Amino acid sequence: MIQAIDHVGIAVRNLDESMELYRTIFGIQDFHREQVQSQRVDIASFVLNGVRIELTAPTSDDSPIATFIAKRGEGIHHVAFRTNDVQADLERLNSSGVALINSSPVPGAHNMDIAFLHPKSTGGVLMELCMDASHSAKNSTP
Ligand code: ZN
Repeated sequence: MIQAIDHVGIAVRNLDESMELYRTIFGIQDFHREQVQSQRVDIASFVLNGVRIELTAPTSDDSPIATFIAKRGEGIHHVAFRTNDVQADLERLNSSGVALINSSPVPGAHNMDIAFLHPKSTGGVLMELCMDASHSAKNSTP
């Protein structure tokens, strides 16, 4: 079940320049830094009252973020919603006719399992479902 907004993903060309901008706007000093291999991105993130802002820069030209920036420029890339069961939500949405980019969860930042819904089915908004990966480890049989 989808429970809350977890984070907003923002596509940026240059992480250092973008962090400087967010330092200026929000006074953020400490960013969490992480590389996500499955998406070929570098991330710098911070949390505002429980909602994470995730600055995301491509690490290679075939990264989905590189493709996005080439087509649409920098800006809001996706909104991520926290759920207690990504796989169950994917199956429910798929059977409701919602197109999926990921039919099963893949590893994301912050030790989360993530999956994207296709924006052609969601009014042009790229939506991500995410959950703490330790939940799915607990649920899966060893
Ligand atoms: Zn995300």
